[in-house]
Amino acid sequence: MKTNNPELNPSRTSKTPVDLMIQGGTAVTMAPGQQPITDARILIKEDRIIEIGPSAEIPIPQGFPIETVDARDAIIMPGLVNAHAHTAMTLFRGFADDLPLKEWLFERIFPAEANFLSPETVYWGALLGCVEMITSGTTCMADGYFFQDQTVRAVHESGLRGLLAQGIIDFPAPGVPDPKENIRIGRDFLEKWHHFSDRITPGLFCHSAVTCCEKTLRRSQEISREYGTPLQIHLSETSMEVSEILKAHGKRPAQYLDQLGLLDSHLIAAHGVHLDKTELQCFRKKNASIIHVPESNMKLASGIAPLEGITAMGIKTGLGTDGCASNNNLDLFGEMDTAAKLAKVSTGRSDVAKAYQMLKMATLGGAAALGLEKETGSLERGKKADIIVVNLKSPHLCPLFDPVSALVYSADGSDVKDVIVDGVVLMKEGVLCALDQDEIMAKVIEISKKIRL
Ligand SMILES: [Zn+2]
Repeated sequence: MKTNNPELNPSRTSKTPVDLMIQGGTAVTMAPGQQPITDARILIKEDRIIEIGPSAEIPIPQGFPIETVDARDAIIMPGLVNAHAHTAMTLFRGFADDLPLKEWLFERIFPAEANFLSPETVYWGALLGCVEMITSGTTCMADGYFFQDQTVRAVHESGLRGLLAQGIIDFPAPGVPDPKENIRIGRDFLEKWHHFSDRITPGLFCHSAVTCCEKTLRRSQEISREYGTPLQIHLSETSMEVSEILKAHGKRPAQYLDQLGLLDSHLIAAHGVHLDKTELQCFRKKNASIIHVPESNMKLASGIAPLEGITAMGIKTGLGTDGCASNNNLDLFGEMDTAAKLAKVSTGRSDVAKAYQMLKMATLGGAAALGLEKETGSLERGKKADIIVVNLKSPHLCPLFDPVSALVYSADGSDVKDVIVDGVVLMKEGVLCALDQDEIMAKVIEISKKIRL
């Protein structure tokens, strides 16, 4: 259901979704148990996949105009799901590198956000993040930040799908100068956007169990439940966070959240670096999700999340980039490669974190963490047409023994040539269809010249 909102320009992708055919190439569908389909054909009516299979079994429909995406010499796959991002933080890419986390956050990022975030800067930063996501094959994101109306506006205009959450923290924050107002502002955000668009799910994002008090955490969850939307949080990112929560509450972070009633199937916890076995059992029992963000954890020297234990226990797990201030890009192809190799080197076992498992985390796994697995994350008849096509005509993708291996260990975001979300082509043959990349980059460069401390 879509409603008009006077704050928003008409969507840059507001054309009616056309009927579409994707033709040729190998489809890696991520549908459970399905092998790759060679010489595939996919038919899309409006926003959904209506047929998928070998070309020989699906006739070309006759009698109506159809747009075709040529996928010969390419892999067709579900769009990637970035399950933890702060999209507008593209503004701070490369602004504060190589610092200890506490200094990075409290002496650089928080002051820069306080001084330079405004509705306008968040809008342009989020738009740049959307361009980066589309051009590197991400079609759906979970985002948490401030001035979040502007991220909604940017994602709406970009044509992407997202769980977009208003940040909640018990300090003065951008757009929330009085922290006593943080819950009211969060509720207003949900009320404003919860019927706006099928592509956009509004939510709340508690910054952490250290920067939000017990009352704030409980209220955020109550309101999220009231609106039937997931609650996001950073959890167990650093050993210092674990010590502080232990000291204040006598429990480890996951047990503390469980005591407050937050640990349930709607909780999406990013990082999970220092979760112990008992905490992982809590996550499993309550069906809560953990989002793995290895590159951010590595860059801030937070540690290595126990990915092998998380997946072996069957905990819902997605993959995220985090914001560009701690990564410094939004390329999930690179993140899959890093996640696999980090798990291998940290366990001393090359047979863990296999390529298919990484690809699943970055697609169907992330979709399940966001509660969207019935709609996106795999290529199946009846699901939303959120699809990317990865070009194989590059030296680093030749020869091709195994398409899944190629996607995880050899490809990068720049190999993506076509991107479709909700049945709408957002990028074709490497060219963005709606967003003006040059205009957006010029605007962000102009803004970045003012970002100084
Ligand atoms: Zn984060």
